[in-house]
Amino acid sequence: MTILGTPFSSTAKRILLCGSGELGKEVAIELQRLGCEVIACDRYANAPAMQVADRSHVLSMLDGQALRRVIEMEKPDLVVPEIEAIATDTLIALEQEGFHIVPTARAAQLTMNREGIRCLVAEELGIQTSSYAFVDDKAAFIAAIEKIGLPCVVKPIMSSSGKGQSTLRCNDDVNAAWQTAQEGGRTGAGRVIVEGFVDFDYEITLLTVQHCNGVSFCPPIGHRQEGGDYQESWQPQTMSAQALQRAQVIAEEVTSALGGWGLFGVEFFIKGDEVIFSEVSPRPHDTGLVTLVSQNLSQFALHARAILGLPIHPIHLHGPSASKALVVKGKSEQLQFTGLNQAMAAADIDIRLFGKPEVDGERRMGVVLSRHDSVELAVTSVKIAASKIGYIF
Ligand code: AMP
Repeated sequence: MTILGTPFSSTAKRILLCGSGELGKEVAIELQRLGCEVIACDRYANAPAMQVADRSHVLSMLDGQALRRVIEMEKPDLVVPEIEAIATDTLIALEQEGFHIVPTARAAQLTMNREGIRCLVAEELGIQTSSYAFVDDKAAFIAAIEKIGLPCVVKPIMSSSGKGQSTLRCNDDVNAAWQTAQEGGRTGAGRVIVEGFVDFDYEITLLTVQHCNGVSFCPPIGHRQEGGDYQESWQPQTMSAQALQRAQVIAEEVTSALGGWGLFGVEFFIKGDEVIFSEVSPRPHDTGLVTLVSQNLSQFALHARAILGLPIHPIHLHGPSASKALVVKGKSEQLQFTGLNQAMAAADIDIRLFGKPEVDGERRMGVVLSRHDSVELAVTSVKIAASKIGYIF
């Protein structure tokens, strides 16, 4: 049985977030609604979740010693990874010493790296994925492309939001793809995955909740990616009963293998009734921002409930909904958003601005949300609203 206490007292339920982005901000808000004491950590000050947390620490999540220091000092009841790039060896050691890592330290470790999760899913569990090879140098890279065939997709083993990712369509693309992958990885040059290109009809995120009473699924979320980064997502994605059932079976199998309680974002490519596993995040997913307006409990509320050991009831979809990421290009430490009155004049539109302190290059700074009569109308509506928003740098 879960017992929740009083923040800033000896009975407080203390939760430490490793990573404090826009997804962590919503998780922090949901935890605070249940009276938890939230400690936000990230590599820079004033990160989104820090703006709503009870206190914060600035440190690199990849610095194992610094991470251990903060966790030993704060003694949280739960350590909640919000990003992939964390010193997961330290999380494994801390778990063995009695700290509770969400959902498990092993889940954080296996999903931090494309190789860990591929080996588990494709090799141990025998689940269908794209064909793939891992390579460390250019000669092996060229050999892997020959074996897998063109087109193929190349990604650093540790990267997200499309960084370092490219699609090779002809042999002329080989040098540029290798260069991009070497420059785009989170921890510098190194190992890459070469994946056979999956010619899918559509792709989905199946939000899957492992909780004290079993497993629950949200209605499937469809999304459109550009260069490996999400642009729009919508819910529900229409799919055949057979494809949905297959996806649910695989999602349950993969998330059970990772272990622990929490919400997972399980990504699939769908072709006809064929379901091909792509990736899994053991935490809320960017495409799941749509659930801020689509469901009775958003993915953030579901994550908070699940990790606290509280029950999850059948998840109710309020209606067809869509989200559009506000990706800003430029450089500023005082970004201003204009056109909000026009964008929010439509009754179905809601907007979240993440409050990120800086943009330098390309960064997701907010999201436009809509609930409408159909998914098509919701997607059109978020696009129109987003086009009305301007930026002063
Ligand atoms: P990922 O970072 O692996 O989630 O990839 C980001 C996006 O790139 C996916 O959501 C797809 O739209 C696209 N993508 C990644 N891998 C493949 C693949 N093997 N075949 C086709 N598209 C892919």
